[in-house]
Amino acid sequence: MDLSVRPKHLENEFFYKHDLDLIEEQHQNDLRLAAEREEKALHDLHWMKCPACGHDLKEASYDGLKVQRCHDCSGVFLPADMVEKLELKESSQSFLTTLHKLLVGESVS
Ligand SMILES: [Zn+2]
Repeated sequence: MDLSVRPKHLENEFFYKHDLDLIEEQHQNDLRLAAEREEKALHDLHWMKCPACGHDLKEASYDGLKVQRCHDCSGVFLPADMVEKLELKESSQSFLTTLHKLLVGESVS
């Protein structure tokens, strides 16, 4: 096959579409990286910060139950998985008792 007789417009069309695909792929990659950077920046900004006052949270442990407590406003943050563990472990009344003890900082027995 003699490639010299191949129509030039087909080659131009091929490379035009190929370039468009590469540009779109790069654009999608840039969007993904920007979203990852924004997610990391938000994580770094809010990690272990009190949602009520913005001060640092300190991890506290009560009989193996880990919570985050704000030493400025005394707010307590319970991760969702901790609440689920407490609900599964405790009856509803003892769950509330345990939760109250966690909130006021008493040792949970
Ligand atoms: Zn606080």
